[in-house]
Amino acid sequence: MEDPDAFAFDCHVHFGQYNHLYYQPSLVVKALHQNGVQRAWVSSTTACIAPTSFDEAQYLSGHIDEEMQEAIEEANRLKMALITLYWAVPERYCTPDKVDGEMYAGFKIHPKIGEWSSKNGSDLLHDICVCASQKKFPILIHTGIDDVDSPARFEKYFAEYPEVTFVLAHCRNTQEIIRLFGKYGNLLGDTAFCAIEDYKKICLAGFKSRMLWGTDFPITHWHNRIGDKITLSVLSENYKNTLLLFKSKIL
Ligand SMILES: [Zn+2]
Repeated sequence: MEDPDAFAFDCHVHFGQYNHLYYQPSLVVKALHQNGVQRAWVSSTTACIAPTSFDEAQYLSGHIDEEMQEAIEEANRLKMALITLYWAVPERYCTPDKVDGEMYAGFKIHPKIGEWSSKNGSDLLHDICVCASQKKFPILIHTGIDDVDSPARFEKYFAEYPEVTFVLAHCRNTQEIIRLFGKYGNLLGDTAFCAIEDYKKICLAGFKSRMLWGTDFPITHWHNRIGDKITLSVLSENYKNTLLLFKSKIL
């Protein structure tokens, strides 16, 4: 976040189904555009739906691909650059096959969505790292304060794939993030739902340049305005407020 243009790139954006709300991909892209975002990494929260059969898993994957297509078409119209992240879930029979730089050019992993400690999960994680390494794609990993989503859980992959860029979403917990940043040069973090005191601690520890602007938008909307009708103006306003709040606290 040293660069004054840092806010033109949002590394953590979603669309799709999130609990009871649906965020239309094209609407999300328009809201980003209205706020000066020129580049974004996007993934679909529709991936959080747990399939109960192979057919349902196939259906969900197809639906997510259609959402990506819609987002890409809108971004092309607006001359924005979208990097689409493939949200991999072991239970959806995911493989990195589609992550070829055409439809998808990076990965999203949420340790609490899917059984990553299973044989399927660890095989998938290995395949993701190999693909990311060969094709120079980033991996965005949700981090949290529980054992299951602690970034330390992935430490052996950070060490084994030094050429892969891993972005630790939310930077939790701060102490662990600072330790890992000190040890591995291939790690970045994002500001999404990262408390400002924690962001400042990471910067003070000398890692400001490792931090990316990321919002988790439109989950920001979901947290603040549950039940609201989702319109472009409501979404755009929510993004603007997220940005202004962060800027007001760091300046
Ligand atoms: Zn997210």
